[in-house]
Amino acid sequence: MQRIKKGDTVQVVSGIDFGVRGQVEEVLNDWYIDRHDRRVRRNPDGDRVRVEGVNVRKKHKKRTQSKGGEIVEIRAPIHISNVMLVCPSCQEATRVGFHIEDDRKTRVCKRCGSSIDKTS
Ligand SMILES: [Zn+2]
Repeated sequence: MQRIKKGDTVQVVSGIDFGVRGQVEEVLNDWYIDRHDRRVRRNPDGDRVRVEGVNVRKKHKKRTQSKGGEIVEIRAPIHISNVMLVCPSCQEATRVGFHIEDDRKTRVCKRCGSSIDKTS
């Protein structure tokens, strides 16, 4: 089971975006995505996440006959080990534990112990 899922709020714990919080837009498991959003090759260590507002790179688009050149911002995925989940209960960046109850596995906050996945 994944520790981090799409839609989670995470906090970056390393690099230039240290401390930035954002929502996970995408979890990448198997593939490296290049700057053209193409699948390049299998990702040997997997588990990268694309986070809103994090690791933003500017990409200069070439001028074409119909359109002028422009600068677009893309968000490069960062490795899952560089982010920590922000617990929706205590609002702290936390490690994720797992809790099994009635054959259902849910994620729990290691700080406050409350469940991260909505129990429905
Ligand atoms: Zn918590």
